[in-house]
Amino acid sequence: MSNNILADDILNIHSVQSFATLEGEGIRFAVFLQGCPYRCVYCHNPDTWYGEGQGTNLSIDDIVTKMSHYKGFYKNGGGLTVTGGEPLLQASKIIELFRRVREDLGLTNTIDTSCAVMPDCIEDLLALTDLVIIDLKFHNNADYNKYAKGTLDKTIAMLDVTLKMGVNVWIRTVVVPDINDTNADMDKYVEIVNRYPHISKYELLAYHTMGEFKYAELNIKYPLAGVEQLSLSKLKSLQKYVYERINLK
Ligand code: SF4
Repeated sequence: MSNNILADDILNIHSVQSFATLEGEGIRFAVFLQGCPYRCVYCHNPDTWYGEGQGTNLSIDDIVTKMSHYKGFYKNGGGLTVTGGEPLLQASKIIELFRRVREDLGLTNTIDTSCAVMPDCIEDLLALTDLVIIDLKFHNNADYNKYAKGTLDKTIAMLDVTLKMGVNVWIRTVVVPDINDTNADMDKYVEIVNRYPHISKYELLAYHTMGEFKYAELNIKYPLAGVEQLSLSKLKSLQKYVYERINLK
């Protein structure tokens, strides 16, 4: 079933996690939404790519009711995170979901986005959002296009609108050997992050191959076949380099 013929209160989802700890502040209920227009070479969730005919449906009421069962776990700064896939494909529905989470449950809302789409309703959505986790995948449009079928411009546009709306932002970058793993790459990322005073965290994540089996299951060629995972020592060295240069809120 296509997203756009679902009722206004029904989300097309891949899965949920009731006790997510990596998707924002505190303990969170994470909703992984189905569908993504990007094609990152390191994606470990290719099973979220396709919206039409994929995933399952969950209503806003279902999500709020599920969260209410575990509300005690979320109360110290935790709450709801929408991730994916690309959650902003279903942004207009998330507005009502976020409103319910804030008003009915008194919990916080986080969006984890690749910035692949900029919905018309973004400011209404950000008005109900406590934190946006933004993937800053590559530091120029050419690499974005080559390795993700995307653009840096869209990520910059999201940084601009979150700044305008005064929303707290965390940034994440996946580091892949021989693609974006040099100090010169880090200089470019730092230069972008340091332009924005509303960014409170910048995380480098090591490329890993844990999603490779999903490509085989889906009969899709794995784009990074033969590329080694980023070593922990390399990650730590890059983190040290970045943290000596970055200015965070
Ligand atoms: S934006 Fe996320 S879900 Fe989409 S292809 Fe990239 S890593 Fe995968």
